[in-house]
Amino acid sequence: MTIAVLGGGIIGVSTAWNLAQSGHQVVIIDQQPTVAMETSFANAGMLSFGYASPWAAPGIPRKALTWMMQELSPVHIQPSEITVPTLSWLHRMWGQCNARAYDHNKHLLLGLAEYSRKCFVELRKKRRLEFDERQLGTIELFRDPQKMDDIEADLNALRDLGIETERLDRKSVLNVEPGLESAQNKFVGGLRFPNDNTGDCHRFAHELMRECRTLGVSFQGNTRIERLESDGKRIQSVITDQGTIQADTFVVAMGSYSPLLLQPLGIRLPVYPIKGYSMTLPIKNPEHAPRSTVMDEAYKVAITRFDDRIRVGGTAEVAGYNLDRPESRRHITEFVVSDLFPEGGDLDNAEFWTGLRPMTPDSLPVLGKTPFDNLFLNTGHGTLGWTLSQASGKLVSDIINERQTELDVTGLTLERYL
Ligand SMILES: Cc1cc2nc3c(=O)[nH]c(=O)nc-3n(C[C@H](O)[C@H](O)[C@H](O)COP(=O)(O)OP(=O)(O)OC[C@H]3O[C@@H](n4cnc5c(N)ncnc54)[C@H](O)[C@@H]3O)c2cc1C
Repeated sequence: MTIAVLGGGIIGVSTAWNLAQSGHQVVIIDQQPTVAMETSFANAGMLSFGYASPWAAPGIPRKALTWMMQELSPVHIQPSEITVPTLSWLHRMWGQCNARAYDHNKHLLLGLAEYSRKCFVELRKKRRLEFDERQLGTIELFRDPQKMDDIEADLNALRDLGIETERLDRKSVLNVEPGLESAQNKFVGGLRFPNDNTGDCHRFAHELMRECRTLGVSFQGNTRIERLESDGKRIQSVITDQGTIQADTFVVAMGSYSPLLLQPLGIRLPVYPIKGYSMTLPIKNPEHAPRSTVMDEAYKVAITRFDDRIRVGGTAEVAGYNLDRPESRRHITEFVVSDLFPEGGDLDNAEFWTGLRPMTPDSLPVLGKTPFDNLFLNTGHGTLGWTLSQASGKLVSDIINERQTELDVTGLTLERYL
């Protein structure tokens, strides 16, 4: 079967890899010259198999308002974006901010993340991929003793779900992350997820693309996808600025842009771009740099170690599809990394980046079938696309191949929004 994967981010490449292994002839189509140049380019690098959590949680609307009052706020809303579609999406997200929805979504998310971890392990057995990978866990670092005490309920829930966690006092945090020594008075302790990993998503996507090519996958870059042509039941072709492309099957993996392609077909996908920022710093002094990921709970900023670089990522901004990088948005990432690892990285030579998280109201991706027989989705991964990429690629490939999926996808398909 010929399959066109629309979008060559981490999700498109992972989908192509799984489909090509089943013997299909796959082409990835993307507007960029190469893979993983948009949201998959410089994310925070966390493979959060245990830390994965829906953004829509009880108390979040109130917390978001409090954060927006802070000088260094992790949340922003552009006044020009206060429109009916945005407010309606936010309203749907707030509808998920209750204990029942949170438990349901968290359960599905952690199941998917754990499956993704297994898929990464399988992939590692098959192929040697270099992507600054580390398997040293994540620490959520607490500055406020009250917040640290509040995690007890969460810890029990995580244990019930089989997620390994360690509650660390300040000294134990320093044993795991000695680079925090000079900042030890800034925090009270941490919650460690020892089975979480880290790595550079962009490098990984390129490595996986190399493996894809050995299976015959082609990449058609510099090609802007304009629309899909259908006869009402099936998709016949994809119209691009480089001409018409035909295939037997189509997979939409265009991140935040997926709903724009689907809307003319009558598919209303509640995927909204939530903007984030990152900085990448060359390491100045390895002993004073993080070993793995440190997530600052107070500012919602993640600091991740790559081999000779530090990646600092965070901020959730409602700004539509705007990709500007205002200087003011650097402040929170600059503050957190220099507060916790003042000697670790070279801020003067930091690269500043922005990307749009393809968020759904329930923080779960949308995988699999659509009302069109030969059109499938792999999108809406929000803040966890790197983490969930391998599970999503495998599940969507199994659905296309009409194989029994190893994980129940009920609750992860478009049906929940129809
Ligand atoms: C600041 C930040 C930090 C993050 N940190 C983490 C993290 O630590 N861990 C984690 O798991 N996730 C993280 N994420 C989320 C993760 O990066 C995303 O979920 C993931 O990259 C989404 O991948 P994707 O392939 O769906 O989208 P993308 O990478 O955006 O790929 C979509 C592709 O579609 C193409 N495309 C779109 N429209 C068209 C068109 N009309 N024609 C042709 N091509 C088109 C684009 O060029 C692009 O290549 C973070 C995100 C941000 C912004």
